[in-house]
Amino acid sequence: MMTGTDWGRRGLCRTADPDDLFVPGATQNRAKALCNGCVVRTECLSYALDQHIEYGVWGGMTERERRALLRRRPTVVSWRRLLETARFEHEQRQSTAAALSRTS
Ligand code: SF4
Repeated sequence: MMTGTDWGRRGLCRTADPDDLFVPGATQNRAKALCNGCVVRTECLSYALDQHIEYGVWGGMTERERRALLRRRPTVVSWRRLLETARFEHEQRQSTAAALSRTS
């Protein structure tokens, strides 16, 4: 598990122009496309949610989408823990499904 913001060095946007990610309005949907293949998307999104970062695209979500998510789930104490747990469980299910398909 990475700590702090170590994940930032592995982000796909590391070499991108910040002006491409911190854009207003509908232009953010284009910026989100960059996040689709990013290996640290979970870390990035949970950081933005836990820190209540209000501007820019983080982890494939616009500021507006993050605000809506925070309003829908006001009791979440740690987005990092929640999203990492969800990712782990998803990977476990995929691994189990792959093992089952090999045996059938
Ligand atoms: S998820 Fe998107 S904003 Fe976050 S590090 Fe990756 S490319 Fe950058």
